[in-house]
Amino acid sequence: MQTRFTAEQLGDPAIADCERNLRACVHCGFCLATCPTYTLLGDELDSPRGRIYLIKDMLEHDRPASAEVALHVDRCLSCLACQTTCPSGVHYQHLIDHARAHVEETFQRPLLDRLLRDVLARLLPYPGRFRLALRLAGLARPFRSLFTGRLAAMLALAPARLPRQEAAFAGEVFPALGIAEGGPRRGRVALLTGCAQKVIAPSINAATIRLLNRHGIEVVVPPAAGCCGAIVHHMGRAPQARALALDTIRAWNDEAAARGLDAIVVNTSGCGTEIKDYGHIFREDPVWAEPAARVSRLARDISEYLAEIGLKPAVEESGLTVAYHSACSLQHGQKVTGQPKALLAAAGFTVRDVPEAELLPPG
Ligand code: SF4
Ligand code: SF4
Repeated sequence: MQTRFTAEQLGDPAIADCERNLRACVHCGFCLATCPTYTLLGDELDSPRGRIYLIKDMLEHDRPASAEVALHVDRCLSCLACQTTCPSGVHYQHLIDHARAHVEETFQRPLLDRLLRDVLARLLPYPGRFRLALRLAGLARPFRSLFTGRLAAMLALAPARLPRQEAAFAGEVFPALGIAEGGPRRGRVALLTGCAQKVIAPSINAATIRLLNRHGIEVVVPPAAGCCGAIVHHMGRAPQARALALDTIRAWNDEAAARGLDAIVVNTSGCGTEIKDYGHIFREDPVWAEPAARVSRLARDISEYLAEIGLKPAVEESGLTVAYHSACSLQHGQKVTGQPKALLAAAGFTVRDVPEAELLPPG
């Protein structure tokens, strides 16, 4: 695709990166067939190619985002199916991330939208606040018929009761099992315990730690490593995302320097996609470029790490058949496809694929 950025515009490394991606697009349209929003809505502007045109036009003319651009950028799910399909290597993730930040900076949303987004950005990345908000929402849930629109929908989504917090995890070291009996410690990893997930489903982190410990892996949860920043990054709030990411980068680098880390294990694939991109996000930062790149190199989805160390085979077949539907951020963002199915098979399950699983986001 031809672009017409000025030399001055290209002096901004973020614009230069967008320009490289825009120029790589050859308009072939292959990505349309795998884009869920285009498949659903049938509008070129809700396709990857259409959004790329809108982004190019907005950035080339250094224009504030219009309501039209904001609408079509907002509708993008960041599933990155288009990135897997693209034969020209367009890094759509970087383009849409930049576009979201531009929209956030330059577009004045309606007041209610602004308030809602602000509340979400102040709650979701902070587990204490999010837990309190869900408790209050749980109390208001029986009265949701009194509310309308998005507020009613959000109340309907709030769980009636929150699961018991199995443990706080932060600052703890979970030793590998079997060491006392003379077994070797096979590795030492940090676990991202995250933000929203640990409030809604804390058992996932607990199960991850148990599984790793049983495989001879020591797990540490550095207390300062909180939200990875992905949630607010996807809302275009680049400065907040950067601040959250820096806290985790600092915490993991300190831990790696003090006691050593073989990997940083992530069991939420959207977060894993973000963390593996830290090296790119901080590439121009004179202080944090290398620590961020180190974190990206160490980051592993839990399925990747288990495949690397080798899952103990199941004692017996479960006799159960399961369908595996990969998260879009795992299959497209991280290109992790075979490992989860191989692990399920090793654990004694018969694994079936979901038709068109590469197109449909789970859930
Ligand atoms: S990220 Fe997903 S929803 Fe967005 S343009 Fe690409 S395929 Fe479509
Ligand atoms: S598949 Fe790639 S090159 Fe083709 S239109 Fe989509 S983004 Fe552009």
